[in-house]
Amino acid sequence: MDLTPLDAIVRLIWLAGAVGFVIGLSQMNSPATARTGNLISASGMAMAIGATALYLLVRPGSTFNMTGWIIILVGIAVGGGYGLYSARTVKMTAMPQLVSLFNAVGGGAAALIAIDEYLRHQGTVPGLQENVATVLDIAIGSITFTGSLIASGKLMGLRITPSRPVMIPGGRLVTIVLAVVAIAGAGYLFTGNYNVAVMVAILAASLIFGITLAMPIGGADMPVVISLLNSFTGTAVAMAGFVLNNPVLIIAGALVGASGAILTKLMADAMNRSILNIMIGGFGGGDSTVSSVGAGGPGGSVREVSLDDAAIQLAYASSVIVVPGYGLAVAQAQHACRELADILEHRGVEVRYAIHPVAGRMPGHMNVLLAEANVPYPQLWEMEDINPEFNRCDVALVIGANDVTNPAARRPGSPVSGMPILDVDHAKSIIVMKRSMGRGYAGIDNELYVNPKTGMLFKDAKAGLAELIAAVKGL
Ligand code: NDP
Repeated sequence: MDLTPLDAIVRLIWLAGAVGFVIGLSQMNSPATARTGNLISASGMAMAIGATALYLLVRPGSTFNMTGWIIILVGIAVGGGYGLYSARTVKMTAMPQLVSLFNAVGGGAAALIAIDEYLRHQGTVPGLQENVATVLDIAIGSITFTGSLIASGKLMGLRITPSRPVMIPGGRLVTIVLAVVAIAGAGYLFTGNYNVAVMVAILAASLIFGITLAMPIGGADMPVVISLLNSFTGTAVAMAGFVLNNPVLIIAGALVGASGAILTKLMADAMNRSILNIMIGGFGGGDSTVSSVGAGGPGGSVREVSLDDAAIQLAYASSVIVVPGYGLAVAQAQHACRELADILEHRGVEVRYAIHPVAGRMPGHMNVLLAEANVPYPQLWEMEDINPEFNRCDVALVIGANDVTNPAARRPGSPVSGMPILDVDHAKSIIVMKRSMGRGYAGIDNELYVNPKTGMLFKDAKAGLAELIAAVKGL
C-alpha cells in the first residue's frame, strides 16, 4: 500500500496514541500511578481523535461536508459533556452502573459503525475478512448494548430491570433459537451473499440475546457480568477497527477486550467460581439477610464488645490492621476510617489496611474508596502480603467486611470453599463493626463471629466510627 506523507503522519500519531494506551494501562497497576495512567490513556485517545479529524479535513479528494461536521461536533459536545458530568458527580458506590452505561454506548457505537459500513456496500458482497469483522461487530456490539443496559438498570434497581434474577419464559429454548438465527444468518452472509434482511435478523437476535443473557443474573453478580461485557465492548471495537481499516481502534479494542477478559477471570477466581457458574446463576443474587450464627458452622456464641472496650484495645495496641468491606463503602465511612487511623498513629500505633481483591462490589473498590479519603498508598496491603502479618497484629478491626473474612472458605462443603480470604482470625484480638448479624453477598453465616477472640460492635460503620473516634480521643 502506497502511503502519502499525510497518511504516514496520521498513522504515526495513531501509533503514538496506541502506545499511550499501553503505557496508561500499565500505570494502572498501582493506585499510586493510576491517575497518571488515566491521563496518559486519555491523551492517547485525544491524539487519535485529533489525527482522525485532521485526516478527514485535509486528505486529498475530501470535500468539506458541513452537515457531517455539525453532527460530529454536536455528538462530541453531548457525549463528552455527559461523560464529564457523570464521571465527576457519580458516587463511588454507583460506579459499576456508570461503567456499564459506558459499555453499552461503546458496544452500540461499534455496532452502528458496522451497520453503516454494511449498508454502504449496496448489493456488492464485501470480502470475507471484512464480512466476518462486520457481522461479528454487529452481533457482539448489539449483545453488549442491550446486556449492559440491563446490567446497569439492575444495579440502579429500576422497576423494569429488578435486581433479582428474572427468568425468561422458555429461557433456554429462546437462547438456542436466537443463537441458531445469528449463526445461520452469519453463515449465509459469509458464503458470498449480500442481504440486508439477514443482517437485520442477526442484529435483532443479538439485541434480544443481550437481554436474555443479563435478565436471569442477580444484581450481586452484575460486577462480574459488567467486566465480561466490557471485554465484549473491546472486542466489538477491535472488529470496528478491522471494518474501517483503522489500527488505533484495533489496538484500543484488543487492549480493552484482553484486559476485560483477564479482569473477569481474576474476579471469578477471587470468588472461587467459574465464569460459566456466574452466567447461569450461583450463590450470588441476594443482598444480606439476617441469620443466626452457628447454624451449619462450627457452633459457639457471639460475644459483643463495648465501645469503650474497643477504644481501649485499639488505643493501646502496637499494631492494628483495618479490614474494610462493602459495608464501609455503603456507609461512606472512608473519611471517618482515615480519621481514626490518624488518631491511632498519632498515639504510636502502627495502622495498615488489608485489601481483599473482591471486597466491596467492584474491582479495586477498597483502593478507590480509601484513595478518596487520602489514605497513604503504602498503608494499603494486598491480601498475599498482609496475611502473614495478622499473626503479629494486636487488633484486626473489621469494618463492614464479611465474606472476605469467613474462615468457612478454608474447608470444603461451604458455598465459599476455596475462596482466598484474609486471615483475620490469626490476629490476637478481632473487633467486627457491622449493624447486625446480617449476612454478606454469599448469603452464609460467618464463622469468624463465633471465634472466642472476636468482639462484635453492632453499629453502622459511619456512626460507629465517629463514636469510636470520640472514645479514643477521650482516653
Ligand atoms: P459482604 O457483602 O460479604 O458483607 C458486607 C457486610 O457489610 C454485610 O454483612 C453487612 O452486615 C455490612 N454492612 C452493610 N451496610 C453496613 C453499614 N452501613 N455499616 C456497617 N456494616 C454494614 O462484603 P465483603 O466486602 O466482605 O465481600 C464482598 C463480597 O462481594 C464477596 O462475597 C465477593 O465475592 C462479592 N463480590 C465482589 C465483587 C467485586 O468486584 N468486589 C463483585 C461481585 C461480588 P450488616 O447488614 O449486619 O450490617
